This record gives sequence, structure tokens and C-alpha cells, in this order.
Amino acid sequence: MIKKRFILNFPPDSGDKPLSYHLVRDYDIRINILKAEVFPGKRGSLLLELQGTPANIEAGVTYLTSHNVEVEPLEKRIRFQEEKCIDCGNCVAVCFAGALTMTAPDWKLNFDKSKCVVCELCVPACPLHLFDIKFQ
Ligand code: SF4
Ligand code: SF4
Repeated sequence: MIKKRFILNFPPDSGDKPLSYHLVRDYDIRINILKAEVFPGKRGSLLLELQGTPANIEAGVTYLTSHNVEVEPLEKRIRFQEEKCIDCGNCVAVCFAGALTMTAPDWKLNFDKSKCVVCELCVPACPLHLFDIKFQ
């Protein structure tokens, strides 16, 4: 079993399709919805954490894309210029998800992208503009 986060973009006509029901029933995937922006009749976006075997998750993603849902691994929405970081800690203070941390003894920034919830709060918090992170 693995856990992996994906951002899904739904076309406007997808609202009446039970896609998540099929992921659970047909692919034995557990779904955790971490963020949702859904407007009836318009495009919608979800951040999902999928838990299952690698083969089932891959098959589930293929099922979604066959229904015109755009599916991207979370990491693809995250750009971070780590080499320019001065370890000031500003971004750590706003990252409630715990993706950005600094610990003793070196107090260097650590970015665990697998914990990111795409809140985008670190983007304006960094004085050097090192983050490019977009949910939509
Ligand atoms: S977007 Fe930035 S602040 Fe928000 S969870 Fe991800 S790393 Fe943390
Ligand atoms: S706010 Fe920017 S410079 Fe400061 S620790 Fe975070 S990424 Fe590095």
C-alpha cells in the first residue's frame, strides 16, 4: 500500500458522474479529500490523497483520465528554488500542514512535498519569492 497526492481538474459536465465511488469499489482505493474548489456547472479542482497498491492507483488514475478528468501528481504543481534559500524561516511559520520545517541542530529548511496541501500561503511569505505553487 502507498499514499500519493494528486490534483484533479474536472470538466464542467462531470458533476453527475460517481467517479470517487468507482475508485473505491472498482480499484479498492481509499480517498482522502484535502482541498476542494467545486462550482456547479464550471470546472472544479480537488486535492486528493489516494491510498492503495501502486497498480490500483495507476489503474484508478487511468480510469479518471478516461472520463476527461485531468490528473497531476502534486509534486508537478510545486516549484521551489531550494538553492537560493537563506533559511530565514518565514515560510515555516505559515505552513500549518507541516511540509516546511526547520529543526536543530542545523536549522536548515526541509521541504517534504508529500505533506503539502497547496494552500499557497508560503508563496507570499518568502521574501525571495522562491515558491511557485498553484492549486488551480
Ligand atoms: S503551499 Fe506552502 S505553506 Fe501551503 S502546505 Fe504547501 S508548502 Fe506548506
Ligand atoms: S521564506 Fe524563503 S528564504 Fe526563508 S526559509 Fe522559506 S524558502 Fe527559505
